[in-house]
Amino acid sequence: MEKIKMTTPIVEMDGDEMTRIIWKMIKDELICPFVDLKTEYYDLGLKNRNDTDDKVTVDSANATKKYGVAVKCATITPNAQRVEEYNLKKMWKSPNGTIRAILDGTVFRAPILVKGIDPYIPTWISPIAIARHAYGDIYKNTELKVKKGAKAEILVTNADGSTEKALIHEYKNDGVVMGMHNLDDSISSFARACFNYALDQKKDLWFSTKDTISKIYDHRFKDIFAEIYNNEYKAKFENLGITYFYTLIDDAVARVVRSNGGFIWALKNYDGDVMSDMIATAFGSLGMMTSVLVSPDGTYEYEAAHGTVTAHYYKHLRGESTSTNSVATIFAWTGALNKRGELDKNKELSDFAKKLEKATINTIESGIMTGDLYRLSKAENKKAVDTETFIAEIKKSLINLID
Ligand code: NAP
Ligand code: MG
Repeated sequence: MEKIKMTTPIVEMDGDEMTRIIWKMIKDELICPFVDLKTEYYDLGLKNRNDTDDKVTVDSANATKKYGVAVKCATITPNAQRVEEYNLKKMWKSPNGTIRAILDGTVFRAPILVKGIDPYIPTWISPIAIARHAYGDIYKNTELKVKKGAKAEILVTNADGSTEKALIHEYKNDGVVMGMHNLDDSISSFARACFNYALDQKKDLWFSTKDTISKIYDHRFKDIFAEIYNNEYKAKFENLGITYFYTLIDDAVARVVRSNGGFIWALKNYDGDVMSDMIATAFGSLGMMTSVLVSPDGTYEYEAAHGTVTAHYYKHLRGESTSTNSVATIFAWTGALNKRGELDKNKELSDFAKKLEKATINTIESGIMTGDLYRLSKAENKKAVDTETFIAEIKKSLINLID
């Protein structure tokens, strides 16, 4: 069989621990036998980040800007224990944070649905994707404890030296106070990333905040979304027959629970943090959650939503059998291959990516799955297999689809 050709490389960001092991298996077993894979390889494994003073992470993000499509393996974000374990020069920052800062993106997360593993909410027949704003609010806050008798105020000093002041509270008793901020530029990028993603996915976009209570702060988000939608996206949405819909967050929660899924839900930073864990759990397993970082200028970086699965890696090192779910990492690869195919008008490559996704789902629906799914599955003939067997079974199913 002749391998599928690629014209433009994908930026490949290798990673750490169990996901690094799976990464190689996916390439060796599921991609390279079928595709003449072209990648520009960056080793984001912790040892190489340390050896290059983290330059490799910055280089990989810049390469993503150049080529437009990247696929990333999960990576360790070092803490004090990792500094010791890997004898690091310093506690390097989260690679995802570094990449996000360079690409200025929004993170979209969506579950992969399979028959036999039912969401806790039975009406959710299609995935719900979360779009989380990744800047500011409570994550960059300033907060203080306040003593009885104190007066707390907001003071803004303008560039010309003039000031604006607003009373927060006069404390009759001890308490707390918090200040937080956001930026029009960041909110605008977030809005554009959401509208572009909705067009790309051909799905409705919902956005919710608490603008009735936060009449200036949250209202700013609502206004920026509305303005950008009306000026830049309305016609494109109407052409595709999709809608943009704003509603209060409490109304949105009620509607989400009653919905059939199948839309994108954009949320402010904190709301997105909380709701993405709720959505991931309600749909089943972390091993089935995909993640893509989309920048406003249209670059895409695909990854699994989970981490490096450290506990499984240590088992693997001890020579014990593991049953690590490779689905989200496979879908990171298929996401990147499919997007590369779309951008290069390489239909064969996109078709291959879709077949690999189908083969993966078919394998689970035929009853063969990893331990995490086995615990959730209602399939009568279900069987838990190890990491290697699961990938080998997907390969068999893929060959059947290709023939
Ligand atoms: P994790 O790697 O996501 O694993 C947490 C637990 O979830 C695992 O112990 C496992 O549970 C289960 N799990 C997650 N993915 C699974 C899969 N594919 N198949 C089967 N089970 C899976 O999170 P963590 O243990 O908090 O973090 C480990 C390392 O990953 C840390 O160094 C962290 O910095 C890094 N991390 C990286 C990213 C990223 O690169 N995007 C994201 C998060 C964390 P059982 O042990 O019960 O089987
Ligand atoms: Mg969280």
